[in-house]
Amino acid sequence: MHLINKPNSLIAISMLAAFSLTGCDNSTSTDIPKLSIQPKNVILMISDGASDGAWDIASYWENGKLANNSAPYTKLSTRFAMTTFPLSTNGPDTICGDEVETISYDKDQVWDETSFTSDPADKYQRPFAGYEYISKNVTDSAAAGTALATGHKTYNGAISVDHCGRPLESITHIAKANGLSTGIITSVQFDHATPAVFGANNVSRNNYEAIGHDMLTQGEADLIMGAGHPQFDSDGKLRTTANFEYKYINAEDWASLNSGILTPAGSDTSWSLIDNKADFESLANNTASSEVLTGPLFGLVPVGYTLQQGRTCTAGKNEHVAFDCDMTATVPSLQTMTQGAINYLSQNEKGFFLMVEGGAVDWAAHANQTARIIEEQVDFNHSVSAVIAWVEQNSNWDETLLIVTTDHGNSYVLGGASDQNAYAPVENPGKGVMPEVKYYSGDHTLELVRLYARGKGAETLSDFVKGNDEGYAINYNNIGSNGDYVDNTNVFDLMKQVIVAP
Ligand SMILES: [Zn+2]
Repeated sequence: MHLINKPNSLIAISMLAAFSLTGCDNSTSTDIPKLSIQPKNVILMISDGASDGAWDIASYWENGKLANNSAPYTKLSTRFAMTTFPLSTNGPDTICGDEVETISYDKDQVWDETSFTSDPADKYQRPFAGYEYISKNVTDSAAAGTALATGHKTYNGAISVDHCGRPLESITHIAKANGLSTGIITSVQFDHATPAVFGANNVSRNNYEAIGHDMLTQGEADLIMGAGHPQFDSDGKLRTTANFEYKYINAEDWASLNSGILTPAGSDTSWSLIDNKADFESLANNTASSEVLTGPLFGLVPVGYTLQQGRTCTAGKNEHVAFDCDMTATVPSLQTMTQGAINYLSQNEKGFFLMVEGGAVDWAAHANQTARIIEEQVDFNHSVSAVIAWVEQNSNWDETLLIVTTDHGNSYVLGGASDQNAYAPVENPGKGVMPEVKYYSGDHTLELVRLYARGKGAETLSDFVKGNDEGYAINYNNIGSNGDYVDNTNVFDLMKQVIVAP
């Protein structure tokens, strides 16, 4: 973050000095050459674990309409499908040979409506062969995130390392090397799989302490925000000292952060730490102190695991109705965090890279919690709206690329008739009414997912198309896409293309 303001001021002063030395002594201030930096902003937003229906049930709840016919998605008219499969479901390889792709996407098997009989002991009965197919060989968030962040497919569990466990260069690193400021924010733990792939390299997503340490010391990101606070539980209540949980950040790093002595590589100054809601709101409202705005910034939300998805439902309220349970009042929304992150990062006249993860859509889907999928996806949608508003008010689509997607499906999120009619989508129950949803899994799924884009370079997405799946266009509600699909690695390709372009 030492890149912000000062270097540009120095360039301006040196340019002015050079100009004076050429003998143009009588020049007026209007003759001072202007800096010709055109910012490049790349914003990647990931609603983790959003099957096609997850986008729509949130929009039905809030707008009474399909997501693609509602804000903010009406502003994102470039719509594709995307494959998410991993290189392999386990690894790393003990003998480092050639990379072998063993998993693929076969549209004929996805839309196979042949009746299927699950093992009667299975919790989930899948009535069609296609349902069974998309439940197998699924990616996890680490492999999917690595594909998005580095352009490489890898094994499940890998944090930006290849099939042999060798570190891969992330888009965050490339952005920083090109002079951009960099930010990683999430609604789950700051070093959970998806944020981790943008700020660290590790052979296993489960090495939270090491991943958290690397994210805070290796200097990839100027800004990190997320949950995983050692002192607070899943309801945002202060734990007793004996129960502080140093799982996501170790006690030593936590002490160093609080003492103001933890400094990331490449930075002149140590991390500023904010960990209360008011400070997140100040950042979002443009009233943050200069101290917060001038060094690397770590925003640790005062909650254990997720902003809101893991909260206990208030007595007397209905956990099966979206937003009925009281929200944890001490926790900022992802929208507030997103607004704050942009205010911070956009100080750099060269631009920024920001990854925003709505991480708990996935957690709610794992648990088949319709109400909480809606809540989490609504906050994510508001975050997308905040980004679009910023672009339209403070930037423009010629200098900013926005990509909105998910890393994989989770649990199907299909309609009430989907046990009779294969892939029948959730029906619109109207605004503010809970929809009828059927789940056929409590885990990730292999189907094509949504990819939205707008702005600088977005038109080149069509160059990456790998194939067309007419079943996707017919059965899913990503209205405006014709079933053309790209691969998740192409998201990296597009972002890199924009960032490194002259
Ligand atoms: Zn995921």
